[in-house]
Amino acid sequence: MDNATQLQTSGIEPTDKRVTIFSHFVDSPTPLSATQLIKLMKDKRVHRSTVFRAVKLFEEKQLIKRIDFAEGESRFEIANLPHHHHAVCRTCGGIELIDDCITDRIQKNIKKRLGFSTVDHSLTLFGVCKKCKDLV
Ligand SMILES: [Zn+2]
Ligand SMILES: [Zn+2]
Repeated sequence: MDNATQLQTSGIEPTDKRVTIFSHFVDSPTPLSATQLIKLMKDKRVHRSTVFRAVKLFEEKQLIKRIDFAEGESRFEIANLPHHHHAVCRTCGGIELIDDCITDRIQKNIKKRLGFSTVDHSLTLFGVCKKCKDLV
């Protein structure tokens, strides 16, 4: 399914601007904030309020997922990526994707002991990346 079709399927009218904004999320190897997105869009004459509105709309329609790395601004990534987590470098802000998951047992415990259902989780690891570590 191409990006325009995917917007359409979610009930979003696929205007050129929306498709371009959505493509940035699809193509980005790491989650993007609206501010980063605006920087990427700079020469395309898209107003920042258009970007903010599109991001809000994509989130409402669950095409993108909000992630908070405690940077003061949320980031977003494509919602239907395979389950993964992020490692964030405290020095350069670089982000790596991790496909390990360490909390299955915890989820099972929450279901069993506390009676929770449909348990989901988010997990972000913070550290110093290899590149930054080697600079010291
Ligand atoms: Zn780093
Ligand atoms: Zn996980």
